[in-house]
Amino acid sequence: MPSKILGIDFGRRSWHPNSHHKDSNANDNPPSFEDILKQRKSSSPHAVDDVRRASMDHLKRPALAAISKTKGSSKSRDRKGQSNDRSTSHASSHGGASSPRSSSFIKPVKLEMIMESPPVMFYDAPAVSSGALLSGRLKVTPLAGDVVMESIIMFLEATVTTKKPVQDRCRECASQVNDLYEWDFFRNNAKTFKLSEGEQELPFSHLIPGHLPATTHGQIGSIDYSLHVRAKSRDGQETEFRRDLPIRRALRPGNDKNSVRVFPPTNLTLNVTLPPVVHPIGGFPVQCRMTGITTKREDTQTRWRLRKLTWRIEEHETMVSPTCAKHAAKLGGEGKGIQTESRRDVGTQELRQGFKTDFDDGQVEGEFEAWCDVAAKPQCDVESPNGLKISHALIMELVIAEEWAPNKKPQQATPTGAARVLRTQFNLTLTDRLGMGIAWDDEMPPMYEDVPASPPHYIQMATRMEEYNGDDLNEDVEQMHI
Ligand SMILES: [Zn+2]
Repeated sequence: MPSKILGIDFGRRSWHPNSHHKDSNANDNPPSFEDILKQRKSSSPHAVDDVRRASMDHLKRPALAAISKTKGSSKSRDRKGQSNDRSTSHASSHGGASSPRSSSFIKPVKLEMIMESPPVMFYDAPAVSSGALLSGRLKVTPLAGDVVMESIIMFLEATVTTKKPVQDRCRECASQVNDLYEWDFFRNNAKTFKLSEGEQELPFSHLIPGHLPATTHGQIGSIDYSLHVRAKSRDGQETEFRRDLPIRRALRPGNDKNSVRVFPPTNLTLNVTLPPVVHPIGGFPVQCRMTGITTKREDTQTRWRLRKLTWRIEEHETMVSPTCAKHAAKLGGEGKGIQTESRRDVGTQELRQGFKTDFDDGQVEGEFEAWCDVAAKPQCDVESPNGLKISHALIMELVIAEEWAPNKKPQQATPTGAARVLRTQFNLTLTDRLGMGIAWDDEMPPMYEDVPASPPHYIQMATRMEEYNGDDLNEDVEQMHI
């Protein structure tokens, strides 16, 4: 497990295998979405599907060798440290009137952001998700005259936080920042923003790979994404801008799940039907049927009567908290971590009625609605390579009491005093609602290159049948035994 902690390759270098970018400096030259499309479509139209799968593969499953997290995170951390220092210095320069710079300090530019793409939603499981398109515009407005901007760089950052750090109150043990992607808007060429021209827009786009864990705020671990812009003017002033970028995931529902549980040594069998996916908000039906409740003998019968059914939804979270370089010795070396765990109920109810009992058939059945308590802020299922995992189970507890009755008068039942508690549980898949339910690659219209130049040659590809005009075949046909 510990070796995995630093393995949270969020796909930052997943582009590198592309031959298109091998020659140019891949780090400084991230492909635009248009490049991706070109790449997808440039191959022969007959192979589009395969090509897409192949090219998506490295999006989702970057090679292990590409993991550069340690470096990336320490770099980010340094950078974060710097920016923290910077913001405090800003704060102090703004703060007291006694500060000599407080009256003269004006930021050179104002940064704003317009998102064009809808909220980020991944469809399907991490291994097969096609990701989500991100696009928007960064608005840059000079505030105090013309300004030469040395660089404007934007990072797609992933921040993983644990509430149970290896070292108490160590910020670096508690939180790791990874740059997943980077837009260098000017690529080392300074750009002048003229006051007279007002605000200018820098468009950006990116295909966020679908293997990333969704934004999660668990009891012990969190994953957050943000867009972080750092703009540096030629005279060395920095302006920062940050915007949260929540990422959600929706799994498409399939068929209902039927599960069977037996409770030896009794003859009781419990059949439960559950929806394939459930959501943090809104209820879902649970169908139950228990058979084998009646045991008949010659003149009498004993049977189990369902007295009470309690359900609860348990959220189980595990998190591997890594150490920072400074505190690595605590666990005997860098790259190790401690696993922490949390369990809690995010919904429960006790039912004493609503069951249909048929002692003749020996079964009791009923349907109830279960739901997550929204106030508990249940989190969707997630399994992140850094060790944060959240899963859910529906736990059911059935209290049954035994009673005895003569076969001739089955209504005259007498409790025997025996009672049992049957406990069982079922995995629940908690996921976001589908919404529109269309992944970006499903809504793409066919590209020009996909359309063949001429009508397809069916004759060459398919079989055909024609009238036979040859000699009489009678004799030959008789010989055509197999
Ligand atoms: Zn530490």
